[in-house]
Amino acid sequence: MQPSTGTLRPLGLDEVRLTGGFWGDRQARNAAATIPHAYEWQRRAGWLDNFRQAAAGGVTARRGREFSDSEAYKLAEAMVWEIARGADAPYRELVEVLVAAQEPDGYLNTMFGRPGQAPRYSALDWGHELYCAGFLIQAGVARLRTGVADALVAAAIRAADHVCAEFGAAGRQAVCGHPEIEMALVELYRATGTGRYLDQAQLFVDRRGQATLPDLELGRSYYQDDVPVRDRAAFAGHAVRALYLACGAVDVAVETGDDKLLAAIVRQWERTVAARTYLTGGMGSRHEGESFGEDFELPPDRAYAETCAGVASVMLSWRLLLATGEPRFADLAERTLFNVVAAGPSLDGRAFFYTNPLQQRAPGSPPDPRVPNPRATAGERVPWFDVSCCPNNIARLLASLGGYLATRDDRGLQLHQYAAGRIRAGGIELGVVTEYPWRGAVTVRVHAAPQRPWRLSLRVPAWAGEATLVTPEQTRPVSPGYAVVDRFWRPGDEVRLELPVAPRWTEPDPRIDAVRGTVAVERGPLVYCAESVDQRTAQALDAPAVDPSVPVVERRMPALGPEVVALGVAASTLAPAHAGWPYGSTGPAVAEATELVLVPYHLWANRGPATMRVWLPERRR
Ligand SMILES: [Zn+2]
Repeated sequence: MQPSTGTLRPLGLDEVRLTGGFWGDRQARNAAATIPHAYEWQRRAGWLDNFRQAAAGGVTARRGREFSDSEAYKLAEAMVWEIARGADAPYRELVEVLVAAQEPDGYLNTMFGRPGQAPRYSALDWGHELYCAGFLIQAGVARLRTGVADALVAAAIRAADHVCAEFGAAGRQAVCGHPEIEMALVELYRATGTGRYLDQAQLFVDRRGQATLPDLELGRSYYQDDVPVRDRAAFAGHAVRALYLACGAVDVAVETGDDKLLAAIVRQWERTVAARTYLTGGMGSRHEGESFGEDFELPPDRAYAETCAGVASVMLSWRLLLATGEPRFADLAERTLFNVVAAGPSLDGRAFFYTNPLQQRAPGSPPDPRVPNPRATAGERVPWFDVSCCPNNIARLLASLGGYLATRDDRGLQLHQYAAGRIRAGGIELGVVTEYPWRGAVTVRVHAAPQRPWRLSLRVPAWAGEATLVTPEQTRPVSPGYAVVDRFWRPGDEVRLELPVAPRWTEPDPRIDAVRGTVAVERGPLVYCAESVDQRTAQALDAPAVDPSVPVVERRMPALGPEVVALGVAASTLAPAHAGWPYGSTGPAVAEATELVLVPYHLWANRGPATMRVWLPERRR
């Protein structure tokens, strides 16, 4: 993301390097395990062979769903970021296969337009042609941003030119059933300066909500074609579609100076965060249509909360942060990164969650490791899905995560997310030393600085209440928002932010009926959950009742990692008062006092089938 204007300017991916720690380790695992894993599965599932068949002139045995092309592009983008850091990945091999399938006029999709296939753009509602083109374009933009204009970049530009020719002002008055192309075109405009890509993105945003797509059982709200983008009250319909569209709308608004459109998306974001978002940051509660529910319709056990919706929410928060400079967007990005994005891959980086419920009532069954999983719902991560958007989206986000940590403006540098690493930008060189989120101390060391005063801003998350900032001059309390230090920095200067990461109890809004009377435990940016494998009995999570008046204790959990902090909370187990009919006039009896062990939500389901819950019923006083 490189907007040409905005309150804050992003840093380049070459200006930030993660070095170990929570996110650095995950990025390294992504490069070493997830990217090769995804490449192997795409080969094995025949999704890359679709491109080979197309290049040979006909696709007679296409495999995979209509959007499988997009997975190859997402993976190519992930590889782009990694090889730019010097990692090894089969990027050339992959790109050679992809670009060979492009038609002379720039069209590139293995599902349509050849003998025996449906004509191009004959199924805009479900065909995902522009969606796939969008990911191709984004992969090309990524490559351009690493300073290389190769065959992938040329293919992306040809694809974009083709889209503009087909869908321009004088072309088809239509949109794709799955938004995505909008932000891709704006990004290509930013990377190349070619204005028609921005014009086309604007056309797509303005055309959405004009009922150009057919009605369907789920209603046109499913693909946001029921209401014009700027007239909507909250994000609705298919969550990933809604969030990708919002990203594209922000991009268009920023580049065209359309403050009303930007304000509309901010308003929709506010309502969505206030009433349609899980404690984890997960978005989209309904399995039906993978969609947002009504306000406060946030059941923990039926949460859909697709991993891709988490990725998309981080992308949207980032755009809104750059546009406005407001810390609330970085706060939500942090919550979503630690509790949805980090929950996506398994500890070995070779299995993934698609949905992210906050309660698992029955232990999942181990997936068949040889075949793609046909279901999006599982109590366990699986190696691959028939619909594998989430693993590839995670791969490209983790590979580019350094870009989401810090920004610049005319006054100095801002740190929004805390990760061990090094930043070199505009003559400033900083080292960030931290064991966040396990420990709350973040030390920023200045290694090089320009010969003039500048401002270092450190985000204090809303959850922190009050934190402490130690500068070379003083130690002072700082409140949520940005703690700023204006001074003449010299190499060797240090600032330390101390965030209070003690465990805290969190209560839901009473309008979220599904979890009224329960509490959850958070520690720093992490949401915790109770997983059955840690409890004294397998039934301990069926009817627990916790006592928040007893202090939460911290424990080690070496099985999940030497750095991991687990928690213990005082609880009772309730015994049902009735058998054979789960209702009656007398309440349950207290069966036994116990302690519930809690682990970070993002680490659950790494130790075999288990039940799990985030929200814990509170014992009635
Ligand atoms: Zn997905």
